[in-house]
Amino acid sequence: MSSGDGWTTCAAGHRHWGLFGAAGLLLVGEDRVVLQHRAPWTHQGDTWGIPGGARDSHEDAVTAALREAREEARLAAADIDPIGTYVDDHQGWSYTTVVARAVRPVRPVAANAESVTVRWHSVADVAGLPLHPGFASAWHRLRDVPPPLFLVVGEAAAGDPLLTRLRETGVATDRLPAGLVGGGLTRLLPHVVHAGHRAASVARDYAGRGQVLLAHEPADLRSLV
Ligand SMILES: [Zn+2]
Repeated sequence: MSSGDGWTTCAAGHRHWGLFGAAGLLLVGEDRVVLQHRAPWTHQGDTWGIPGGARDSHEDAVTAALREAREEARLAAADIDPIGTYVDDHQGWSYTTVVARAVRPVRPVAANAESVTVRWHSVADVAGLPLHPGFASAWHRLRDVPPPLFLVVGEAAAGDPLLTRLRETGVATDRLPAGLVGGGLTRLLPHVVHAGHRAASVARDYAGRGQVLLAHEPADLRSLV
């Protein structure tokens, strides 16, 4: 029994599992995503969704999603690069989908009794599957995955405590500067790159690997929270 196990009711009057909300992992590969065929006995079972479950009282959404993915599908955190989050906020309860890329080929397996199967599906086939209602309503926000975000930090911003917060909770997609994209996600989880006095040239080096945000000053970080 974990601290988050239990039913709760959101402001709209739905019953939801997870006293502190719930989180799941959507793992993305080349035009494929990992889906879980949920066991018939589970809530809204015999449907396809993502590995996930109740958050513990002390857990942030990314930690909870990675734990559930390990427990239910034997996906290892070392193989997973979190890109961002989408929060389905019901007021009083929320489900956070952590969208992530596989950094090497991975083969998910149904690792506990909550799954019938866990396997890769082509993105094009997802909408045609019998989907879990929560995942079905979020899918259009999740399917266009933005490139990874690199936050290149210069000397003056390097010691700022906001960096820890941005690394853990992400950059709000509605605060991204023009030219950067968040897809349908709520926040992007940045890779923080400490570049010292070479920030401008390091930012150019990272341009080929994803989206780049440059923070010279602490004020540049405050504009992202
Ligand atoms: Zn609800």
